[in-house]
Amino acid sequence: ASFLTMNLSRPILKAITSLGFLKPTPIQAATIPVALLGKDVVGGAVTGSGKTAAFIIPMLERLMYREKGTKAAATRCLVLVPTRELAVQCFEVGCKLATHTDIRFCLVVGGLSVKSQEVALRSRPDIVIATPGRLIDHIHNSPSFTLDTLDVLVLDEADRMLSDGFADELTEIVKSCPVSRQTMLFSATMTDSVDELVRMSLNKPVRLFV
Ligand code: AMP
Repeated sequence: ASFLTMNLSRPILKAITSLGFLKPTPIQAATIPVALLGKDVVGGAVTGSGKTAAFIIPMLERLMYREKGTKAAATRCLVLVPTRELAVQCFEVGCKLATHTDIRFCLVVGGLSVKSQEVALRSRPDIVIATPGRLIDHIHNSPSFTLDTLDVLVLDEADRMLSDGFADELTEIVKSCPVSRQTMLFSATMTDSVDELVRMSLNKPVRLFV
């Protein structure tokens, strides 16, 4: 497999090369082509497999072709991860992959000031990377924050988010997203509660286990 045969745009390919990624990892080779078609994806993947780039790359490709100019900025993509540390890692990989684009990221996690995150969200970043608890705080308390414009939802480390007690938060967040969206879910293990989340959140997903 090669990144060169995936029909990626030049700014993204350039960033992939700068990061030193010579060829896609198995989860990237499986996920990227399917995700570029706009399909929902369930991926069995652990940390270290390269799954972050597997969902960020198709997300960036979609945003490369978003409407700009007269249209107001809008948050199009939301990535939910269980911990602040994973959110920071995802944010860093995402920013590096987006270096040669004008795509804007925002980190929404506990431990950072709610006020400054509220200001950042008001500027409608293209991609929000969040932990479920802090995102719920913004849904409840920031009147201008909305998920109405969302095109892509990613549930990363779904098994861990559920075992960390975020099931209710996930249900509420998923219900706040538009029905017509792409959803990608990644999980190291497929438990009954992950299956339930898949049934609630995804539409005819392609299941990729590498
Ligand atoms: P992740 O599983 O997403 O946490 O990624 C684990 C590590 O693999 C990160 O440090 C990435 O920068 C690195 N990585 C991701 N994709 C590739 C690739 N195609 N080639 C080499 N390294 C990669």
